[in-house]
Amino acid sequence: MEALTIYLRKINIYHTSPCFAEAGKIRVKARLSDDISEIMPYLNRVVKNANYNEHAPNLTMFKEFRMITLEPENLILIKALNDTDARQVLDWLKDLINETAERKTEIEPLYASKKRPHPLQLYTWLPRINCKQCGEKSCLAFAALLSVGQQSLDRCLPLFTDDYQEQKTVMIDLVDALGHDISNYIDGGV
Ligand code: SF4
Repeated sequence: MEALTIYLRKINIYHTSPCFAEAGKIRVKARLSDDISEIMPYLNRVVKNANYNEHAPNLTMFKEFRMITLEPENLILIKALNDTDARQVLDWLKDLINETAERKTEIEPLYASKKRPHPLQLYTWLPRINCKQCGEKSCLAFAALLSVGQQSLDRCLPLFTDDYQEQKTVMIDLVDALGHDISNYIDGGV
């Protein structure tokens, strides 16, 4: 059997510090063993929540609540839970990059930045009753966190009641465009 070509051999963490964005979490800087510039537009295509800036170049993406900024030979991971969590995320990322490189001929690269729903657009379709059941002070605060992957739509309990059927349908489409996992919502899990 033909061996897989390894595109990215290693991701080496060289600096860890407390996360400014969220107390108790960590921020990690790492170096990539190989230049991944060529793969970035392919990642932009296959990772729903990725956003590519061709001019920098860099690519931002989320792994649940964690945010990753990739440059050709470096990356920053913020809001990792701890060292173990950071290493697991980076292992996942290395596999993702190598799998994407392996399938390159089947993927159409996407060089453009993706248009992401604006927080105010999200806010418009929330119940806007500021009930705080999601744990945030207001629907606007919830929308802002939702837009950057720091909140989950299912935390807005009123939205999943009969009173907000139409809004719920629109919100599921919007968070899908943000790259959230919506399988729970469409399978009737919420
Ligand atoms: S639970 Fe929903 S309706 Fe209530 S404050 Fe949060 S976002 Fe607004």
